[in-house]
Amino acid sequence: MAKIFCIANQKGGVGKTTTTVNLAAGLAKVGQRVLLVDLDPQGNATMGSGVDKRELENTVYDVLLESATLAEARVRSERCGYDVVGANRELAGAEVELVGLERREKRLKQALATVAADYDFVLIDCPPSLSLLTLNGLCAAHGVVVPMQCEYFALEGLSDLVNTIKQVHANLNPDLKIIGLLRVMFDARITLQQQVSEQLKAHFGEKVFDTVIPRNVRLAEAPSYGLPGVVFDPAARGSQAFVEFANEMVGRIKRM
Ligand code: ADP
Ligand code: MG
Repeated sequence: MAKIFCIANQKGGVGKTTTTVNLAAGLAKVGQRVLLVDLDPQGNATMGSGVDKRELENTVYDVLLESATLAEARVRSERCGYDVVGANRELAGAEVELVGLERREKRLKQALATVAADYDFVLIDCPPSLSLLTLNGLCAAHGVVVPMQCEYFALEGLSDLVNTIKQVHANLNPDLKIIGLLRVMFDARITLQQQVSEQLKAHFGEKVFDTVIPRNVRLAEAPSYGLPGVVFDPAARGSQAFVEFANEMVGRIKRM
């Protein structure tokens, strides 16, 4: 049965989507069966997996509104080696449409239950907000992976997310926990980043993943080719780090 993870952080531009597509590609590369769910109306994880968000017949919007099943909405990204439930602008409207509906925060969870046997990992790319969309992700997940840059306000920004996760854990999803914090866009030459990284380890201990993702231009270039860095340039330092991270995640779920 699939283990389901949200890639979340309420800040934008911190590396959520880059982490989602590259972790998905890294897991596929080491032989895992993976489904990526794009919960961000920007559809970056969809496009970044080589799936054209403008040409999709069904998206995660249809899954949430129950006008398509998850099996109908998923598509295969052959080049990346994993399945995708895509998103596009239409999803922005779901927020409002869901409010009046029953089981509004549990819809993704129910849909994923129908395909859980098909995968080892489901990765959910969350939007940069603690919205009803993110709530659907958090209700569906066993755990949260939090990508973060080692910057001055990093720890402060984390407290909102940690509180939200605590509330969801207490009220909606007793399975939910933080799996780990992933240091991304890391530049070891910058003393401040080293210091924040040490602070993170002192504060969160085991929850900080061993793998560190370096700042690497190939990871930033890959989306314009519609590919994760791991597929676009497997030899790049950043790509290798994501494959290492995939192996670390495989090790972690064995202990879950
Ligand atoms: P989010 O999904 O949190 O908004 P993204 O994954 O889209 O963040 O990343 C924000 C920007 O940073 C993108 O332009 C992306 O290509 C770039 N980026 C992310 N991770 C790295 C990295 N390790 N090295 C270099 N650029 C990166
Ligand atoms: Mg994103």
